Amino acid sequence: MKYCHSCRYEFHDEVDECPDCGIPLREDPPAPEKYKEVEWVMLRQLPNPIYAEMIKEVLDNEGIPNYLSFDFMSSAFILRGASLVGESGKLFVPKEFREEALELVNPLIDEEPGEGESGEQET
Ligand SMILES: [Zn+2]
Repeated sequence: MKYCHSCRYEFHDEVDECPDCGIPLREDPPAPEKYKEVEWVMLRQLPNPIYAEMIKEVLDNEGIPNYLSFDFMSSAFILRGASLVGESGKLFVPKEFREEALELVNPLIDEEPGEGESGEQET
């Protein structure tokens, strides 16, 4: 993708200049003016709410807009006390922040969770 920094339009790679503005396109997207029309993409699934909170905080600190979809929030009330293993949340960030966010988030998640990962099944 290439971008016109004047009209903020996106073009295919084979286009070299904006047909409307006549200026050269750039490969880096223009800075978002606001996050209103952001295209949210799922960054990744999160193993549990603790990670979700932690990661959200990291992203907030870095100024990366984000939101969490807590599938487990509603069920947590019903299943009160039950294990949350198997429940998952989804973390969303604007598309243009995806790679930056992944770089921040991946090292956090790839660390050994240390609980609930396996050996949870005992019948
Ligand atoms: Zn343009």
